[in-house]
Amino acid sequence: LASRDFHPDDTIIEVKGVKIGGDQLVVMGGPCAVESPEQIDEIARLVKAAGAQVLRGGAFKPRTGPYSFQGIGVEGLKMMAEAGSKHGLLTITEVMTPEYVDVCAEYADILQVGTRNMQNFDLLRKLGTIRKPVLLKRGFSATYDEFLNAAEYILAGGNPNVMLCERGIRTFETYTRNTLDLAAIPVLQQLSHLPVISDPSHGTGRRELVEPMAKASVAAGANGLIIEMHTDPDNSMTGDGVQSLFPDQFARLMKELEQLGALV
Ligand code: PEP
Ligand code: MN
Repeated sequence: LASRDFHPDDTIIEVKGVKIGGDQLVVMGGPCAVESPEQIDEIARLVKAAGAQVLRGGAFKPRTGPYSFQGIGVEGLKMMAEAGSKHGLLTITEVMTPEYVDVCAEYADILQVGTRNMQNFDLLRKLGTIRKPVLLKRGFSATYDEFLNAAEYILAGGNPNVMLCERGIRTFETYTRNTLDLAAIPVLQQLSHLPVISDPSHGTGRRELVEPMAKASVAAGANGLIIEMHTDPDNSMTGDGVQSLFPDQFARLMKELEQLGALV
């Protein structure tokens, strides 16, 4: 079902008037984690002012260590839903377990499957039973075939609204957190009809690389970008402050993308 052979035309996922997968670039911006009502409200305001369409933010965080901040949970979902509706933005948030799919779907417009859960088959099967759009991140060691098979689980369950996200893979390089695989963008678009989103934040792990890799992703044909932005990255509650853009950098990037003709 994910294959272009089966479905020659590009899939366009329409969420409350925003088209994901067409010619127009969709930008999702926001913090790694929802931290407080004030934080997410202020970031939502800035994301909207910069011209992006979707607010990102994690309420459930898949942390490498069990003692790290794990996200604020359902309260965070509510804060983000409120900020999104107040500022006229769609919202995207990560869901980690099948049991939380329904509550995440109640509060968010798009559900994200993180890199660590790309092959959480019970989660994928559950996401196949709903109709909310799902942004599926590539596992950091997954081949294209494994990635597309993970998408297939959701599609096979009956949910056609799947987008693929390249977020960097693990290589021998340690300077960057991950290696953003730019070739994945055209390859996945050739093999599949699903929209392809690039995540230059996790794909590099370094703030100064986000802008060039965002532009490179657009040049490679990405249908959208998901970018971390924080008003106070040095004090963010996850370690992802180092890869989060400051609001002025995010706004400048949006301007530049507009000048490149990527945004309408
Ligand atoms: C995130 O988007 O904050 C995240 C945890 O992403 P990934 O699953 O790609 O590491
Ligand atoms: Mn993050």
